[in-house]
Amino acid sequence: MVAKLESAGVEAVAPMLAYQWTTQMSERFGFASTWSERHAAHASGLGTFGLTDGLITPRGQAMRCGSVIARIQIPPTPRPYTDHHAYCLFYSRGTCGKCIQRCPVDAVTPSGHDKVKCRAYLDMTKTYVPAHFGFEGYGCGFCQSGVPCESRIPIAEEMD
Ligand code: SF4
Ligand code: SF4
Repeated sequence: MVAKLESAGVEAVAPMLAYQWTTQMSERFGFASTWSERHAAHASGLGTFGLTDGLITPRGQAMRCGSVIARIQIPPTPRPYTDHHAYCLFYSRGTCGKCIQRCPVDAVTPSGHDKVKCRAYLDMTKTYVPAHFGFEGYGCGFCQSGVPCESRIPIAEEMD
């Protein structure tokens, strides 16, 4: 996408792939990075955050997203929310909490997402996956599957 834009004379960058991208430890936020695809998607009108810190989009929370920033003016996608938690049933309705039950290490609670516990579990899978499945890989995502926001906005019916 960047190459296409640049060949058309438009300056563009994929921030996550830029050499300046880095992770840092924030006193206030813990693990942090200099760019977040989820936050770019949120600012672009594509979704709001759930109890897990995942982004709930029309495609649900079990998705991957990426961003390209370009010096070009195009009509913006409407941003149909003012609350950054609007699509999460727990924050907006006081219900659900299914993702709390789905996490194997109690990293999701009514207080939110514990990044340290989550990271420790993900790190464990870096040895578990090759040992048990025979390929290099890691990950989790239990809290983003088998939940009402897995593949849709769970309050969409109410919003229509
Ligand atoms: S499973 Fe329920 S509480 Fe958890 S993020 Fe999705 S809508 Fe919110
Ligand atoms: S990714 Fe896995 S470990 Fe992390 S919060 Fe979700 S279920 Fe828990």
